Amino acid sequence: MQTHFGFQTVDEQEKERRVRGVFDSVAGKYDIMNDVMSAGLHRLWKREMVSALAPRSGQHVLDVAGGTGDIAFRILKYCHSGTGRNLRSSTSESPDMDPGLRRDDGINVTVCDINEAMLNEGKNRAIDANRREGLEWVVGNAEALPFPDAHFDAYTIAFGIRNVTHIEKALAEAYRVLKIGGKFLCLEFSHIPNEVLAKIYDSYSFNIIPWIGQQITQDRASYQYLVESIRKFPDQETFAKMIKVAGFGNVNYRNMTGGVVALHTGRKL
Ligand code: SAM
Repeated sequence: MQTHFGFQTVDEQEKERRVRGVFDSVAGKYDIMNDVMSAGLHRLWKREMVSALAPRSGQHVLDVAGGTGDIAFRILKYCHSGTGRNLRSSTSESPDMDPGLRRDDGINVTVCDINEAMLNEGKNRAIDANRREGLEWVVGNAEALPFPDAHFDAYTIAFGIRNVTHIEKALAEAYRVLKIGGKFLCLEFSHIPNEVLAKIYDSYSFNIIPWIGQQITQDRASYQYLVESIRKFPDQETFAKMIKVAGFGNVNYRNMTGGVVALHTGRKL
């Protein structure tokens, strides 16, 4: 079977191999590239996602395509802060440098990613922040998660599902591993309804982002893939329907930054 890798058509196995290659190549510079490309906006988007998750002590959260652990660190930080209001008023914007992370927050986050190089970056961040408890790092494919049924209180995936070969399989797996009542949250680049804004964004994406990628990672192609893969991802309404088809209830979405990013949510009822 064939699928897309950015704007190219490739075999399904070839897509998985190439996606792995992209993140092998960028792992070491992944975090700094996020800041530069999004002018820091990814922090705001992720913060909104964690606020919407509203994790509580005693819960077990699965962060799929968790990469270098950015979402996991933010979940731990949120629990330490106590409330979303505290989190927003926090002056520290670096999720891994907050000394509060050393406290036992009573929450467990499993970070699962297909790419070991990305997870290793995350493990090093955890070591640097002296944060070992409450975190688990597991190599695994979103399409065939190595976890039992009804195991987690929440499932998060940020900027990951776009890279998965069969989105439907990843959604079915999310549903399977969640407990009844469990929350599903997906943060992903999306589609901008405003035509003027969309043109400006296109110009920035196709001209500037691959150039920044070349300057910082010496890898233009991986960032060309990034911008192309965003255009191939289903729009907000289509993706919401796919989440419903997977079995989730209470499906909703919220645009951020005019639709550059959307947060889709649902619940296993
Ligand atoms: N969630 C992190 C964040 O927001 O910073 C990392 C996002 S990064 C853009 C995408 C991640 O998806 C990479 O770490 C990549 O290895 C992972 N990934 C791609 N395909 C995957 C799959 N089939 N299963 C699990 N992870 C996958």
